[in-house]
Amino acid sequence: MSTITLHRDVTERTERVQERIRKACARTGRDPASVTLVAVTKGQSAEVIQAGYEAGLRHFGENRVQEALPKIEEASNKGVEATWHLIGHLQSNKTKAAASAFDVIHSIDSTRLMYRLDTAAPTSRDVLLQINVAGEAQKGGISVNEVSPLIAAAHETPNLRLRGLMTIAPIASDPEQVRPIFRALRLLATQFSFPELSMGMTNDFEVAIEEGATLVRVGRALFGERTL
Ligand SMILES: *Cc1c(COP(=O)(O)O)cnc(C)c1O
Repeated sequence: MSTITLHRDVTERTERVQERIRKACARTGRDPASVTLVAVTKGQSAEVIQAGYEAGLRHFGENRVQEALPKIEEASNKGVEATWHLIGHLQSNKTKAAASAFDVIHSIDSTRLMYRLDTAAPTSRDVLLQINVAGEAQKGGISVNEVSPLIAAAHETPNLRLRGLMTIAPIASDPEQVRPIFRALRLLATQFSFPELSMGMTNDFEVAIEEGATLVRVGRALFGERTL
């Protein structure tokens, strides 16, 4: 794709996604400013990130530290000044790299990881606990009963600001099927007075917004199929 075509394509897709976010907010009386669009650029080049930035996107999400580091560097060199979100599983041997490159980490799933990240973080970092609401065996995240010990650990990790919860809904043919998952996450966040809820992807972000998402993680609707 030529640079001009790429930029036009990403701009149009971004506008369409933003319009869908506004409509989902309108349906439930929410202020669109309460929803942050995290543009997921895993499997996409730094050029695509730059096109997204020029289309107005300011939050980007990557799911692998190794893949993200050179792309974040390249994008910064192209003038991209963004907030970077780590949305994939974080291995404990990558905490130092993750803590320096990412501003927000959505995938906290153990106290051990919290302690390591707290030590590695150069300044304070926003973190979210990844919850496996549906209890799917193959999926990362903690169960609902494991939330309390992690909240307790947050009192001993001064560099981490525990801001909320994140989930990845099961794959469903109809997004209505995962509404109960999003609702369960919202109730859990309310119970612990967390302000942030990271939920909703290309297939289900509108339902997630109706259920209270404050961070939606959208890849394919913005950038098409992944190319790397
Ligand atoms: C890939 C990914 C997304 C984005 O998925 P799309 O279907 O491309 O919108 C969101 N969240 C996580 C954790 C992902 O790994």
